[in-house]
Amino acid sequence: MDRIRIAVKDLEDKVIAYRRDFHKYPESGWTEFRTASKIIEKLKELGFTVKIGAEANKKEAMMGVPTEEELAKHMERAINQGANPELVKAMEGGMTGVVADLKCGEGPTVALRFDMDANDINEAQDEKHRPYSEGFASQNPGVMHACGHDGHAAMGLGVAEILAGMKDDLKGTIRLIFEPGEEGSRGARAMVEAGAVDGVDYILGAHLGFKANKTGQLICGTGEFLATTKLDVTYTGVPAHAGAAPHEGRNALLAAASATLNLHAISRHGAGASRITVGVLNAGQGRNVIPPNAVFKMETRGITSEIDEYMAREARRIIEHTAKMYEVDYEIKLVGGTKSGESSPEMIQRIRKVAEEMGTFTEIIDYASFGATEDFSHFMTVVQNNGGIGSYIMIGSDLAAGHHDFYFDFDEKSLALGMELMVKMVVDLIG
Ligand SMILES: [Zn+2]
Repeated sequence: MDRIRIAVKDLEDKVIAYRRDFHKYPESGWTEFRTASKIIEKLKELGFTVKIGAEANKKEAMMGVPTEEELAKHMERAINQGANPELVKAMEGGMTGVVADLKCGEGPTVALRFDMDANDINEAQDEKHRPYSEGFASQNPGVMHACGHDGHAAMGLGVAEILAGMKDDLKGTIRLIFEPGEEGSRGARAMVEAGAVDGVDYILGAHLGFKANKTGQLICGTGEFLATTKLDVTYTGVPAHAGAAPHEGRNALLAAASATLNLHAISRHGAGASRITVGVLNAGQGRNVIPPNAVFKMETRGITSEIDEYMAREARRIIEHTAKMYEVDYEIKLVGGTKSGESSPEMIQRIRKVAEEMGTFTEIIDYASFGATEDFSHFMTVVQNNGGIGSYIMIGSDLAAGHHDFYFDFDEKSLALGMELMVKMVVDLIG
């Protein structure tokens, strides 16, 4: 066995323990105070230069951040669950993204992105669900790692430890990006604007069990990531007696309903696929009151960033002019968004070569269409626009249930395969 495989084997149990710890204390977007605190402590111990808080997250570019009140509750919860109070304080405002560098001599910079947020669902409390029967099910009601980001963050710590031990054999800089708020496409923009991918020549990210749902499978690169824009819209009208004075009211419910129909009627773009969905609409207060209030949550998507921008521009126009038609006030809040993306063919070929040399993957596939949105594409596209290359890898894993299902669980054996591949890719790129 080679040196890296031995190092991975030695660390495997520890990484599984990290995964189970993160799984037990899941945190959703911008509240990853405990997860980030554990990661920061470990990376510092390993000798990485670590940027946190405002140095790693540009406040004005953070999207879909919980209220100050909610954040304060989560900070307290995180400390009660073992987070370092000083570090939690440094992440005030929800600035939970972490960027860590290890300089190993002169050479190119290779970035690895790991997401660390969980989903807003209740985990199954059922003996047949392994996290429950083995005692590491979610302790945070309404939040669960149902997408495998607990595994991603754990692999990140494993990879960090192995690479720190190989420092003298590498020529370049290793940058680890631990992203908050991947769900809802909220985290990447704020980290990119804080400089997370400045000077990055190569970038890699990976997902467990997505598109590759058997342990041993590998997809070297994915593409056709949909760009997206997520908006919360508020209409404010005027209440009035529905019988005596309906003419004095300004109906926010009708405005929102009319906007919803017209949003779904935006002309498709000739250059490629697009989507639009109004997923939530809440309006009105009483049966006999002209509804003075409406809120709706919507999103657009596009196979390219340009098509998504077209959809979002049209959406804003319809929202604004529907408000005028009904004489209601409107407010549009950008709560999420990311770019489209495509893995670099050159990087895909390098991954294939390294994976074939490992000899432990049972099936290696060059490319798959992702067909959904992944905030990694924001990092990758910026790196590519600056002349770098990157790829988003699918690491196969047997699953107990699909992603975002409350019975979701993956095969922990896939963690070692993923770590070995990532370390060997870094060696291939800057060894
Ligand atoms: Zn995910």
